[in-house]
Amino acid sequence: MSSSLQCIDCAQQYPIERALYACETCGGLLDVRHDFDDLPAPIDSRVFDERLGALDAPCNSGVWRFKELVYPGIDDSAIVSRMEGNTNLYELPRVAAFAGVDTLFLKHEGENPTGSFKDRGMTTGVTQARILGMERVACASTGNTSASMASYAARAGMQGIIFLQNQQIALGKLAQGIAFGATCLQINADFDRNMELVRLVSEKLGIYLLNSINPFRLEGQKSIMFEALQQLRWRAPDWIIVPGGNLGNSSAFGKGLLEMLQAGLIDRLPRLAIIQAEGANPLYRHFRGGFRQFEAVKAETIASAIKIGNPVNLQKAIRSLEWTNGVVEEVSDQQIMDAKAVIDGVGIGCEPASACSVAGAKKLVERGVIGRGDTVLGVLTGHVLKDPEATIGYHADQLANLKPQFRNEMLQVEDSFEQIAAILGERGSPASF
Ligand SMILES: *Cc1c(COP(=O)(O)O)cnc(C)c1O
Ligand SMILES: [Zn+2]
Repeated sequence: MSSSLQCIDCAQQYPIERALYACETCGGLLDVRHDFDDLPAPIDSRVFDERLGALDAPCNSGVWRFKELVYPGIDDSAIVSRMEGNTNLYELPRVAAFAGVDTLFLKHEGENPTGSFKDRGMTTGVTQARILGMERVACASTGNTSASMASYAARAGMQGIIFLQNQQIALGKLAQGIAFGATCLQINADFDRNMELVRLVSEKLGIYLLNSINPFRLEGQKSIMFEALQQLRWRAPDWIIVPGGNLGNSSAFGKGLLEMLQAGLIDRLPRLAIIQAEGANPLYRHFRGGFRQFEAVKAETIASAIKIGNPVNLQKAIRSLEWTNGVVEEVSDQQIMDAKAVIDGVGIGCEPASACSVAGAKKLVERGVIGRGDTVLGVLTGHVLKDPEATIGYHADQLANLKPQFRNEMLQVEDSFEQIAAILGERGSPASF
């Protein structure tokens, strides 16, 4: 089975045994390219369906169940896995009504072992680090990449090194990196600068870089689409909606969907909608400008996981948009937090960035881009416990420039039956959306 690294701009190929993150000829991003024709048998959805519920490694993982599409030549004993994936696909009528569509599925990637989809990319990334004989791995992170990398590095017995901003890291994420024993560097720089620093340090010190510029990360993240389509019985929805930060998922989804189409697993491509926060919207601006002149922005949003002004996977995301006839939309922090409150309020919950999927769906319906009768699949990228401060701040009405529309106010009550009874009597049945 032959796989190689290939530049997405000049098509130059490199062996996968090289720790390379950009083309040496032109600087372009690299893809992991598999020669699926070399597989012993053609790809067949029934093989993937038979593996559902597998008890043994590697097919008990929602990434490695699709190993023929993720890393066909892999020796199973090299795999570093936490049985990631296998996340639920929820059909949520109340959230659909809020977004304005008849059918809305939400794939909850916050149900991964460390609470975000990053685990799907980290199992492939750390596996590749092991294959290459690496002892140290590093990443810059707004939080979830570091939480995930710290966990997988610990599992593999490697030193994880994480570059964090010195402000606005959600507490749940910071706690994970520390707990899992990574070397935590808190640096007085924003994500985009930390990204530059970690690339420099990794290259100079021979440390394996595990941000989503690493093409093996994206191979694992393709499985979000494989698994979602499997859960839909291989029937493609009209739309896939995903928040966009560093644009790793947006890139992985396009590649995964195209590979599924080429393998005959689906018979048409859904359209991709990438949603950015208004304060961190460089792809949105670029899309609006017809992809003529890209300009990075200084990022600011409450959705810290997508607070990124200069996304490394820009060119791959543009390719995904071209392949899928995709669109880019922006939403305000107010729209993000209100959508989050609706998702939280039905008992599912997610972190702020994830709510872009629902806020973006709503806006695209209002703009007439998504039809009410279209089938929409949104991805919830992270768990509700990741960012407790944002959630509590919203419901306490303590977030600057934001007025909660779906507030669940904490009630201060005396130690008194009469007072409790009076309040519960007054309040009646719970508010419904
Ligand atoms: C990393 C992350 C994102 C952004 O994903 P990209 O692939 O960088 O665009 C969105 N939401 C959550 C919760 C994340 O952890
Ligand atoms: Zn090149």
